[in-house]
Amino acid sequence: MIEHYSVPGSIAEAAQVLKHGPATIVAGGTDLAPQTASGARIFSSTLVNIRRIEELRGISISEGRCRIGATTTVSEILNSPLLATAVPVLTEAADHFASPQIRNAATLAGNLCNASPAGDMIIPLLLLDAQVELASWGDDSLSMRKVALADFFTGPGTTVLETGELLSAIEFAQPGDDFRAAFLKSGPRPALEISTVSMGVAGSIRQGTLHNARVAIGAVAPTPLRASATEAVLEGSTLSDELIEQAVEVARQEVSPIDDVRASAWYRKHLTGVFIRRLLTHVAGN
Ligand SMILES: Cc1cc2nc3c(=O)[nH]c(=O)nc-3n(C[C@H](O)[C@H](O)[C@H](O)COP(=O)(O)OP(=O)(O)OC[C@H]3O[C@@H](n4cnc5c(N)ncnc54)[C@H](O)[C@@H]3O)c2cc1C
Repeated sequence: MIEHYSVPGSIAEAAQVLKHGPATIVAGGTDLAPQTASGARIFSSTLVNIRRIEELRGISISEGRCRIGATTTVSEILNSPLLATAVPVLTEAADHFASPQIRNAATLAGNLCNASPAGDMIIPLLLLDAQVELASWGDDSLSMRKVALADFFTGPGTTVLETGELLSAIEFAQPGDDFRAAFLKSGPRPALEISTVSMGVAGSIRQGTLHNARVAIGAVAPTPLRASATEAVLEGSTLSDELIEQAVEVARQEVSPIDDVRASAWYRKHLTGVFIRRLLTHVAGN
């Protein structure tokens, strides 16, 4: 039963409210509304609406670092000329996300904090080695810590967020000119679909060789995954047909999908192979 409804105007104010007992943070509500309506989740006694906190919004690039505020919506990411130029793989993932109505409400931090293994915006951010900034109220001031996104998820629906903490921003280094990345997602419908498998591949191609190889896969394990064994196969190698087939085999072994209402484990493993072949062929050709 909700007893208090708080609409803080600053991160500090929100953190002070969160410090004083159990609270549910609401941003766009696109995960929370269906979860609470179905009874899968119940609201805490205090509801904290963070949508009016101006400091939590916006996209900027300064001194080679890109910063995206927690409540930046998926539509804002999709329509950002800055991101389209600097990090097109984020725009690409936003373009595959739900419908315009959901994208207008859904926030980037909401997608991360919901911690679904199938969260679409997580995949490009894993490729970018993103960090999340977590804010809480200390003894008498705001306290911030940063966590690598790859270490943020602990299981389906769970993260390292501690009681009283709020995700305030997402940051990553602006990729260099030779950085290439691509994203793919599959579901029974082309849009408005929770991913059956999602995948991103990235790296820098120099003289035909892939460096800093990164592979991120969603919906094939309890958390979104950086596929380190597959990355090791690709690192420093020329993307020949033989190497791509070797990466297909390693990626298929590296995932541990389950059967659920959307797809069987067998199909998810199969798609993992299909997607990595397609993405590597695409990256090799660009
Ligand atoms: C019809 C439909 C289609 C969808 N399609 C997709 C899709 O294609 N791809 C996809 O990935 N998802 C999809 N979703 C899921 C959802 O839209 C996203 O996960 C969205 O990004 C959640 O953001 P939100 O702002 O609505 O989060 P909310 O529902 O407000 O919150 C989600 C969770 O995060 C917590 N939270 C939110 N912000 C913060 C913060 N700053 N700090 C700490 N905790 C926080 C909340 O307490 C809650 O636990 C879909 C949902 C619907 C209803």
